[in-house]
Amino acid sequence: MNYDKNNIFAKILRGEISCKKVYENDYVLSFHDINPLKKTHVLLIPKGEYIDLDDFHNKASEREIIEFNKAITQVVKILKISNQEDGYRVLSNIGKNSGQEVSHLHLHIFGGEKLGRIVL
Ligand code: 5GP
Repeated sequence: MNYDKNNIFAKILRGEISCKKVYENDYVLSFHDINPLKKTHVLLIPKGEYIDLDDFHNKASEREIIEFNKAITQVVKILKISNQEDGYRVLSNIGKNSGQEVSHLHLHIFGGEKLGRIVL
């Protein structure tokens, strides 16, 4: 599968669609999910064109991978849901069985309340 440059997150990265930004640097963008499933529900995406985690790990540079992972901790610090506060959950859907809807790699970060069971 090829990367679709018209996916919704690519449009957000190009500034064609607005988002409620949490954090941004040269490698990543984090913003609130438009349809939050928990009190805090944000998305973290790399700026590079990667479909999912597998695609990312296969093609991204080590720097991109490190920056993407480190950004999780930066984002939860900003949101005040880090392990020093209440804690949080990170989830990524990959491919058909997961129900991935947007084909640009994204991590869901949930928090702000008791999260319940991992799998619904
Ligand atoms: P997936 O099912 O692909 O893992 O998750 C896609 C997520 O993107 C969903 O939680 C959905 O609410 C969110 N989403 C879809 N379109 C938009 C949008 O235009 N803006 C924002 N902020 N989130 C979106």
